[in-house]
This record gives sequence, structure tokens and C-alpha cells, in this order.
Amino acid sequence: MSVLKYKNATSIDGNSFDFFVVDGKFSNEFEGQVNQQVDLSNKLVIPGLINSHTHAAMTLFKGFADDLTFKEGWEGKVWPAESKMSPEDVEAGMRFATQEILSTGTTTINDMYFHMERLAGVCKQSGLAAHLSLGPIIPKIFPGEYKTKIQNRINLLEQYSQDRIYGVLTPHAPYSLHRDDLEWVAEVSIKHDLLVHMHVAENMWEEDQCKADHDGLRPIELLDKTGVLDRPFIMAHCVWLSEADYEFLGDKPNVSIVHCPSSNMKLCSGGDQKQSFSYELAKKYGVNICLGTDGSVSNNSLDMFEEMKIAALLAKHQTGDPKCLPAQEAFDLATINGAKALRQQSSKFEDGYEADFMVIDLDHLLIQPKHLPLSHLVYGGSGHMVEATYVSGRKLFDRNIKNQEKYLSISKEFNQASRRLWDL
Ligand SMILES: [Zn+2]
Repeated sequence: MSVLKYKNATSIDGNSFDFFVVDGKFSNEFEGQVNQQVDLSNKLVIPGLINSHTHAAMTLFKGFADDLTFKEGWEGKVWPAESKMSPEDVEAGMRFATQEILSTGTTTINDMYFHMERLAGVCKQSGLAAHLSLGPIIPKIFPGEYKTKIQNRINLLEQYSQDRIYGVLTPHAPYSLHRDDLEWVAEVSIKHDLLVHMHVAENMWEEDQCKADHDGLRPIELLDKTGVLDRPFIMAHCVWLSEADYEFLGDKPNVSIVHCPSSNMKLCSGGDQKQSFSYELAKKYGVNICLGTDGSVSNNSLDMFEEMKIAALLAKHQTGDPKCLPAQEAFDLATINGAKALRQQSSKFEDGYEADFMVIDLDHLLIQPKHLPLSHLVYGGSGHMVEATYVSGRKLFDRNIKNQEKYLSISKEFNQASRRLWDL
């Protein structure tokens, strides 16, 4: 048994507290032999952040589509490069992304990309907790058999779970699937108790496309008819929902929405009308809301501190109400709400919860004055102030230890892959 005692930590409310980490889990009390004591005087200790929607390995394409229309950037540059990407490239992209993720205080990701085995290997090596796609389900765009591959991966999931790597069913979007594909997803989700993670209502045209393809059904109606909304279901973006949709989703206790404010704004997903995901309405009807960066093409950053600030500012701007999405709620989006969506016991310093946390020096420039840490974390914070990041009690990042050799080797491999894909 491994037991560590952490003393004199400062909580987000400014109180001093001690805690134990017993075999990777938090404990407030422990009687018996402690292996090591760590003094955290003058350190803020807060839960690790949860990035509930990303395509982390796409950091390979960061900058490829900046300041371009979707057609110019994605169709012209990103997708052709992506089609030439090798499994080794994906690995290099993920390896680099895990550095950015852990060094900015994120301890869990919900990821949607290709080559699960490769990504799982990288996540295991880094220690990051990860919910990974069991395989793309995009049959209208990439026709072909996908079920056997996914089924084979499901059969191997047990070997990953001790490293906190989980498989997730990822139908791409309502417009890129047939109705029977979605029904299959719902069935498999029930049979193997799997989460479902999907892009929903990201762009305006999706609704017309969905109606034309599915006998007049709108995206939420289609999803409901296929049964996926009764599964643990994580919907990313949701820019184009009506008030009736939010109300309907409020009665679906397993549904969570991932707000991706930076991506939605950068890609102009709200179109001419400047439509946005409505935090106000989702909250009004009791939908669980979490937060995601999306991939690095549409965000250029995997730093969840930025995302908390942008989400809070966008909600205030949109409603004209400075009280909308206060700092505590922004922090909840990136912690406890993400944990709820992903069905993991984390983000609280409670007995038996995963010991996923970060340490920030209370003398850091960005955290002054010291007596209002929550405000600084959300409105003035940055992942660069994180001193150390722990997942399941293991310290996976320490800013004070300069492992330059390891970083340079990861960065070199990553830059070579990204440069080759850019030059294609
Ligand atoms: Zn996405």
C-alpha cells in the first residue's frame, strides 16, 4: 500500500487543509504507516481540469487553418494532410499534446480521434486519464465496415482500465450517419455500458441536412428516436439548439453538453446570426454542462484555463448580464461537471475519489492578491502558472524539474511530423 500525506495545502476557498493519497485515491483520514510526507505550505491545491471534448493529436495541424474559411482551411489544407497521416504521426501528435495538457493542469481528456491503440499507448506512458474513441463512425463520408473493428477494441478494453484509459463510442455527427448506425451505437452502448460522444448542432446547415435525410426529423428528434439520448451521452458544441431542445434535454438525465467557446468563435459556427450555445438556457433546464477545447486547429490551445475565462466572458456578453456564468460555475464546468459526464469519481477532495490535482505557488504573479484565488484562476489564470500536476496521486508534471532532453526529443519528432504534413 502506498500512503502519502500532504500537509498545509491551501484550498480554493483559502482554507488550510491536509489530505492523504492512498493507492492513488484521496483520503481525509488515515491511521497507519505513512510512506512520505509532503509540505505544501504557500501552495494552492485544486482539482485537475477535465477537457470534455478534444481531438488532442490534431495539435499536429495547429495553425494550418488560421484566418481561413472552412473550405480554404479544412477542405484545402487540414483534411488532405489528415488523409496522409500515418499512425506514427498520430502518436507523435498525441505525445506532444499530452505535454501541453498535463503542464496546464488538465488531468483527464475525452478525446475523439483515430488509432485508439496508438493513443492508448501514449496516454498510458504519460499517465494521463483518457476516454478515447473506439473508432470513427462516419459512414456517410467514409463508407465501409466499422463495426468489427470497434467490437474487437471493446474486447480489449479491460487491459486498459487499470491505467484509466476507457473506450467511448464516437458517432461523428447526426448528418454523417444513417439512422441504423445510430441505433447500433445505442445497442452497443447498452450491451457494454459505454459512453457515447458526438458532435451535435455545430453548424446551421446541419438541421436542414438532417431533416432532408431523416424524414423531416431535427437532430435532437433523430437522436431521441434512435435511443442514444437515453444512454450516457456527451454532445459537443450544441451551437444551434432551440429553447425547446434545451428543455427536452433537461429531462434526459444522462445527457451532457460540452461547450467549446473558443472553437465555436474561431470557426464562426454561429454564422451571420452570431448564434452561440446558450449557457443560460442549458442551466435553466438543468442540463449538465461541461467544457472542451476541441482540437488545436480550431482553438490553437489545449489550456483549459483559457477556456474557462472565454466561456464566462461569452455568456456575459451574450446575455448582457455580468452575473451570468460566475467564476465558481466556470470552474465547475471544467471539473465536477466533466467528471459527472465521464462517470468518474474525481474533482473533489473526498474519500475514495481519484487523486487528480494540481499545485500552484501562491506567490505566482498571476495569483495576486492571494486572498481571491478563484477569481484569478478563472479570469486571470493560465495553465503556465501550474507548478505540478498529479493523476491518481502520481506526479506527472513538475515545472521545477527541467527534463529538457525528453522534451526536445518529443518536440523534434512532433515538429518533423507536422512539417511533413504541412509540406504535402
Ligand atoms: Zn470536435
